[in-house]
Amino acid sequence: MSKVVIIGGGICGLSSARYLAKAGWEVIVLDKNDFTDNCSYGNAGFVCPSHYVQLATPGIVKQGIKWMLNSRSPFYIQPRLNKSLVNWGISFMKSAKKENVERHGIPLRDIGLLSQYEYENVWQKEMNIAYEHKGMLEIFQTEKGKEESAHVVAFGQRLGLDVELIGLDELTQLEPNTKINAIGAINYKCDGHLSPGKLMEELKSDLLKYKVKLVPHAKVTDVIIKNGSIDYVVTDSENFYADAFVLASGSWSGKLASNLGLKMPLVGGRGYSVTLPIDKKQLDILHPGILVEGRCAFTPVEGDKIRFGGTMEITQTDALPRYGRVEGILKAVHDFFPEIDISFESVKEKIWYGFRPVSGDGMPYIGKTKAYRNLVVATGHAQLGISLGAATGLLVKELLESEKTSVDISAFAVERFS
Ligand SMILES: Cc1cc2nc3c(=O)[nH]c(=O)nc-3n(C[C@H](O)[C@H](O)[C@H](O)COP(=O)(O)OP(=O)(O)OC[C@H]3O[C@@H](n4cnc5c(N)ncnc54)[C@H](O)[C@@H]3O)c2cc1C
Repeated sequence: MSKVVIIGGGICGLSSARYLAKAGWEVIVLDKNDFTDNCSYGNAGFVCPSHYVQLATPGIVKQGIKWMLNSRSPFYIQPRLNKSLVNWGISFMKSAKKENVERHGIPLRDIGLLSQYEYENVWQKEMNIAYEHKGMLEIFQTEKGKEESAHVVAFGQRLGLDVELIGLDELTQLEPNTKINAIGAINYKCDGHLSPGKLMEELKSDLLKYKVKLVPHAKVTDVIIKNGSIDYVVTDSENFYADAFVLASGSWSGKLASNLGLKMPLVGGRGYSVTLPIDKKQLDILHPGILVEGRCAFTPVEGDKIRFGGTMEITQTDALPRYGRVEGILKAVHDFFPEIDISFESVKEKIWYGFRPVSGDGMPYIGKTKAYRNLVVATGHAQLGISLGAATGLLVKELLESEKTSVDISAFAVERFS
């Protein structure tokens, strides 16, 4: 039996563990913490083939520069003189081109559909992941929002996805219990959603059935190479040897990648969320969605709760949280849902945050490297780690088993910035 060590126990690491264990591998997952201190818990839980527009767009760079200095804005880059941030910034700006957005639509669609297929046809049948295929509403308030949404819909329809532009009347029919201050929405009928916390807890207990060894408080500090392969990884307590290794340590992957000499720009993009019990008198939203101009997501989770989340704060993973940014999220919620008025004071003890691993173009890094025969990288998923989590695990398994991958992964090449 071949043995694999996976570095990182977020969705990408655990999903890889599941596919590899099912294929007969002996699997060890190392996590620097207790497997819960990561980005895979309090996120919005969208499983969204509809996210076929790469993160690095000309629009986000233009808007981001305007927003950078506003502490309540949805996008913020903490200015600092740091080589990895500068490298990432240059890569991101260079990648933010219309032709890249067009070119990457197909690989994003294909990996998104593959992942959704796996969640719907494999995971949901074998675990209780609270998955629902109800679509997703991207709600806009302005004519500019409508115009941009029309382009996104046309792009989605060209990709063959079930996506349509709807007006306020149709939106009200879909959400009859909540007053919405908007002029229309994109109805991404192709999308699903799940409860991320439930998914992660189910996944961990399921892995025990496959005898996967989950090792908490095992921070990998070094990687030892022998004859072009990784020989073992070093943690404070023990060295771990294996036939193969998977780098899936989310926003912390950059440091280990750079130890390995891999040019893989990556930063942490912090987002915040709050989860509230659904009070049917005040809060009865039926679908998950995005408030376009508010840059905020909302998702019904865990059967009786609703989650509001957002912001992209490019900062160090040890930077203190700026809880005030949640005020921007709550304001956006009130702007769109005027009857929902949540005070910051009432939620400040419930704020969650996590760091999205954002690559130099916002596209994942999934693949082998030229430098090391027995390494697979699975990180950089930015705002799509949950959505693409199932497919990522499957692809990691296919790569380590030297099988043909289920989708073309050349757009996710690990060394594309070399
Ligand atoms: C507000 C918000 C909303 C979001 N909404 C969505 C959504 O709707 N849909 C979606 O698809 N995605 C969403 N995301 C993004 C998604 O949460 C991330 O892409 C995903 O969780 C990343 O998973 P990961 O496994 O790569 O990293 P993580 O979940 O962060 O896991 C990385 C793990 O590696 C471990 N680790 C790090 N370094 C080491 C080391 N040296 N040694 C050992 N272990 C190490 C960490 O402890 C951690 O457990 C959202 C994110 C945020 C913040």
